Amino acid sequence: MAALSANIEKLNGYLSRFKNTGIMNRIAGEDCAGSAGVFQSISPVDKSVVCDVARGDVSDVDAAAKAAADAFPAWRDMPALERKKILLKVADAIEARAEEIALCECWDTGQTLRFMSKAALRGAENFRYFADQVTASRDGQHLQSPTLMNVTTRKPIGPVGVITPWNTPFMLSTWKIAPALAAGCTVVHKPAEDSPLTARLLVEIAEEAGLPPGVLNTVNGYGHDAGKRLTEHPAIKAIAFVGESRTGSIITKQGADTLKRMHLELGGKNPVIVFDDADLDRALDAVIFMIYSINGERCTSSSRLLIQDTIREEFETKLVERVNNIKVGHPLDPVTEIGPIVTEEHYNKVTSYFDIAKEDGATVAAGGVKVGDEGYFVRPTLFTNANNKMRIAQEEIFGPVLTSIPFSTEEEALEMANDTQYGLTGYVWTNDLTRALRFTDSLEAGMIWVNSENVRHLPTPFGGVKASGIGRDGGDWSFEFYMEQKHIGFATGQHKIMRLGA
Ligand code: NAD
Repeated sequence: MAALSANIEKLNGYLSRFKNTGIMNRIAGEDCAGSAGVFQSISPVDKSVVCDVARGDVSDVDAAAKAAADAFPAWRDMPALERKKILLKVADAIEARAEEIALCECWDTGQTLRFMSKAALRGAENFRYFADQVTASRDGQHLQSPTLMNVTTRKPIGPVGVITPWNTPFMLSTWKIAPALAAGCTVVHKPAEDSPLTARLLVEIAEEAGLPPGVLNTVNGYGHDAGKRLTEHPAIKAIAFVGESRTGSIITKQGADTLKRMHLELGGKNPVIVFDDADLDRALDAVIFMIYSINGERCTSSSRLLIQDTIREEFETKLVERVNNIKVGHPLDPVTEIGPIVTEEHYNKVTSYFDIAKEDGATVAAGGVKVGDEGYFVRPTLFTNANNKMRIAQEEIFGPVLTSIPFSTEEEALEMANDTQYGLTGYVWTNDLTRALRFTDSLEAGMIWVNSENVRHLPTPFGGVKASGIGRDGGDWSFEFYMEQKHIGFATGQHKIMRLGA
C-alpha cells in the first residue's frame, strides 16, 4: 500500500502540468492548439478525466507535414555521426525520465507498472540500437558488370507518417520513430486518441535532447480526420501503421491516390501449441505470461492454446489454479499483475465475449466476470471445451482472455493453428526437434518461438503474414522501409552504344 500511495503522489506531480494546460500538438518545435478544439483523455483506472488534448484535424496535419517537409533536407544531409549523437542523447533523456513515462503510461492506458517500468527502457533501447546503425545505413553494394561499375546507395524516403495504437504506446512509437529518424526521415506522429500522454513526453524529450524543430511533429486527433489526412497528404511519402487489420485495410485505400508506401503491423489470434513431450512447467509459465501480461492487450499474445488431449486435463487444471491467482488491481501497485482495460468501448468488447463463449457452448473455466465498477477491470479469463470454429477462437479479443482447444495429432494441431485469418506469431512447445523443425516450417506466422515465450531481439525481423500485416521492422528491415534504394551505373570504358538514325 505504501508503494502504491507513493506512486500515486509522484503521478499527480507529473500530471499537474497537463491538468493545467492540457496536451498541445507539437509542430515545428512549437506548441499548437488543435483546430478542432479538444477531446478528453480518460483514465481507465477510475474513469476520471486525465486532461484535455488538442484535437487536430486536416489543417493541423497539413501544418505538421509542411514542418516535416521543411526540416527534411537539413536532417537528411546532417553528417551521420551528428545524427547518431542526437539519437543517443534522446535515448539517455528517455532513461532519465523513465519513471515519469511509466507512471503516465499506466494511468493513461491501465497497463501495470510491473510491465511499463521497462517500457521506457525498451524505448531508449530502440533509439540506441538504431543510432548505432546510422553510419552504415546508406551503404550499398558494388555490382560489377562487363561494361559498367554498378553501385547502389540508399536515401531516406522523405517525411513519413507514423500512426500508433494505444497498447504499449510509448514503446511502439519509439519502435517506428527511432529507425525513421536514424534513416534520415522526418516524422509526423499521430498517436492513438486513447493514449496521448507519453507521445507528448517523447517529442518533448527528443527536442530537449537536441532533435531540431520539425524533425518530429506530433498531432493528436481521431483516426477518421487527422489520421486520414496524414495517409492522404502528398508530402508524406510513407506510413508506418500499427493497429487493427480493418484499419490497415482502410488506410491502404486512403493512401492509394498518393501511392503511399505502407508498412502495416496488424492484429493476431496467435496459437501456442503444447505437445505432451514438452517441458510442461515451462510451457505453463509461458502460456500464462503470453496472454495475461500487459493486460492481454498485446498483438503477439498467444490467445489460442492448442493442447494435446493426452495432457489437457492436467494442464488445464494447473492453468485454472494459476489464472485464479493472478492479481487484478491498481496499475501503480507494484504487486498488480493485471490492470483495467484501456477504454469503456474496449471493455465492452472484451466482456461481450463472456456471453459469446457460453452461447457457442464453451465453458468459462476461470474469470468471465467484471471487477467492481470504479474502473474497467475484469478477471483474467479462460475458456475451455472450445473448438477452433468458435468466435472465441477466431476473433481477436485483445484482452486477458485465453481459449483452450484440444488436439490429438500433430496434423490436427497444424491445421487448427493455421485456420485463422491472422498470422502474426506462433509458439511451439515440444522436445522433439524434428517435429519442431517440421511444424515451424508449415506454421503460417511471421514470427515463431520454440520452447520460449516472445523474446524480442532488435536485429530480427518483426511482422506478420496474412491479415496480420505487410512488411517487417527490425535490423536493416526498418531501413529498407524508410529508405529508397538507388542504383548508379558508371561506364568503365567505351562500350558499344546502339546508334539509331545514324
Ligand atoms: P486502431 O486500428 O483502432 O487504431 C490505431 C491507430 O489508427 C490510432 O491512432 C487511430 O486513431 C488510427 N486510425 C483509425 N482509423 C484511421 C483512419 N481511417 N486513417 C488513419 N488512421 C486511423 O487500433 P487500436 O484499437 O488502437 O489498437 C489495437 C490493435 O492494434 C489490435 O488489433 C492489435 O493487434 C494491433 N497491434 C498490432 C501490433 C503488431 O505489431 N502487429 C502491435 C500492437 C498493436
